[in-house]
Amino acid sequence: MSELNTGIDESRLTLEQRQQVERHLTSKAALVGKCPVCSQRNWGLLDHLLHVPIYHGGSLVVGGPTYPHVGLICQNCGNTQLINAVVSGVLKNKDEAPNRGQANE
Ligand SMILES: [Zn+2]
Repeated sequence: MSELNTGIDESRLTLEQRQQVERHLTSKAALVGKCPVCSQRNWGLLDHLLHVPIYHGGSLVVGGPTYPHVGLICQNCGNTQLINAVVSGVLKNKDEAPNRGQANE
């Protein structure tokens, strides 16, 4: 099978970024909340940064602006919560996040 350059490794969270997510969440909530679906406290972190594309009147715009996020996943039921990567401090420099908390292009 030929190797495709999907960019997936570029979006993989580094150890430092994973630690930043943990620091951010700890600073905002002393106790990790229960999963709203199954009520367990068994959260994990997705391996990659996620992009949430902005709405364009029902049309999907490939390569358009997005909001960068990290994903918290309930290890029991799979419910996934999104945390903004800029607000949480995971993406810090201008190239990574041109607009704080805003959509990236
Ligand atoms: Zn759950």
